[in-house]
Amino acid sequence: MSYDNNNIFAKILREEIPCSKIYEDEFVLSFYDINPQKKIHALVIPKGKYTDLDDFSSNASNEEIIGLIKGINIVAKKLGISSDIGSGYRALANISDHGGQEVPHLHFHLFGGEIVGKMVS
Ligand code: 5GP
Repeated sequence: MSYDNNNIFAKILREEIPCSKIYEDEFVLSFYDINPQKKIHALVIPKGKYTDLDDFSSNASNEEIIGLIKGINIVAKKLGISSDIGSGYRALANISDHGGQEVPHLHFHLFGGEIVGKMVS
């Protein structure tokens, strides 16, 4: 699938629509999900134009890949849910049709602030 420049997260990255920002650096932007499924529901997205995790893993630079993984940890620490200072969380990426992905820009959901429950329903 080619990257759709008009997807909602591309618009958030271009600051055409607002978000409730948690963290930003050269590689990632993190903000709260508009429709939270748990007490804490954050999203972490790479700044590059990648449709999903497979596109990212195949085409992103090593710097970008490290930046995203470290970004998730930075955000988890900021939210107080990382395993070193908090009680943990679930990081989840939906991938394409069978994965139930709705927004075609790679994003990790971070669910926490309470016991998250069963992995797959
Ligand atoms: P997906 O199903 O693609 O893994 O998840 C997309 C997520 O993006 C959903 O949890 C949805 O609530 C969230 N979302 C959709 N539109 C917006 C928006 O405009 N702002 C924010 N902050 N989240 C959004």
